Amino acid sequence: MSTAQAKVVYGADQPFQSAEIQRRELHPHDVLIEIKYAGICHSDIHSAKGEWGPVQYPFVPGHEIAGVVAAVGSEVTKHTIGDRVGVGCMVDSCGKCIHCHDGEEQYCLEGMTGTYGSVDRYGQYTQGGYSSHIVVTEDFIVKIPDNISLEAAAPLLCAGITTYSPLRHWDAASGKKVAVVGLGGLGHMAVKFAHAMGAEVTVLSQSLKKKEDGLKLGASAYYATSDAETFKQLAGSFDLIINTVSAQLDMNAYLSLLAVDGTLVNVGAPAEPLPVQVFSLIGKRRSFAGSSIGGIRETQEMLDFCAEHGITPEIEVISADRIDEAWERVLNSDVKYRFVIDISTL
Ligand code: NAP
Ligand code: ZN
Ligand code: ZN
Repeated sequence: MSTAQAKVVYGADQPFQSAEIQRRELHPHDVLIEIKYAGICHSDIHSAKGEWGPVQYPFVPGHEIAGVVAAVGSEVTKHTIGDRVGVGCMVDSCGKCIHCHDGEEQYCLEGMTGTYGSVDRYGQYTQGGYSSHIVVTEDFIVKIPDNISLEAAAPLLCAGITTYSPLRHWDAASGKKVAVVGLGGLGHMAVKFAHAMGAEVTVLSQSLKKKEDGLKLGASAYYATSDAETFKQLAGSFDLIINTVSAQLDMNAYLSLLAVDGTLVNVGAPAEPLPVQVFSLIGKRRSFAGSSIGGIRETQEMLDFCAEHGITPEIEVISADRIDEAWERVLNSDVKYRFVIDISTL
């Protein structure tokens, strides 16, 4: 075992405290990463508050991890000391099932091992990236391209891949009309990616407060969903809608914005159900779908796509003593557009 410094929560509505946590000794294929930056994802908040199910405390969130390799196990071949690397939402999977073979480890039939809040194959409860070090098996570590800074890379490991993957799967290409619902961490990456892939992008936000930003990020249109006119004006318009909202919405209203054969992909993960009337779907052969992060191969592809197209997230770097405040701001949709913790301030 080795020790790491971490920011820890001890209960659903408790503030963060500093603590030491244990990391396992390196197995032959393990890599020890010195974490430099960790992004704050809304999933950290849902999880720590127990909204998605029971949580074991103490709990260390963080699954947008960027750092440097500090040590490697005896049989590691993919990474060497000093490499700039990233870890996202998963740290292991069975490696044998059809989905693992296909490089979609997030759909592993035995269940992926989450970066936090999971029990790993050694029986240890996983603790995330709001910490100084983490040990991860080499296959679940990606390389950060040279022209992407570590602080900018961190949010790509979840917000980036979670929006890139469905945009690729549902082919957000030239000639396609794509709407992004919610301009937060995931939403702003969806706008950048869909625009870079050649689609025509519309943002659907609660208000017009961030309109100027949305247009700069690559959208060609921006509407307020608080205005009922928006739903009349845009009825039947989109081939693809990516819903990134962390709260319950009236899905039938959003489905009415899809064209014939259009798909609404929910990546937002509120704890509450999202009721759908079948007539919202059948009249125009629409689909209501979901998507979970992305596989390791696709995560590397996404990072390389970012490097090639000069895409990075809009971030606000904070010190570790401001995590509680940052979480409050995320809950109030007051983030432009991703908080990233400078781990050197732990
Ligand atoms: P975020 O930064 O808080 O962004 C969510 C955005 O949704 C907000 O900025 C806001 O945008 C909008 N919103 C929030 N509350 C709303 C409400 N009550 N009504 C309407 N719109 C509201 O969160 P995030 O980190 O991007 O994560 C978004 C969701 O995706 C979370 O539920 C998270 O758990 C989930 N997630 C899923 C996956 C996956 O694999 N499927 C991966 C990562 C995250 P506007 O201000 O523009 O309205
Ligand atoms: Zn996340
Ligand atoms: Zn598997």
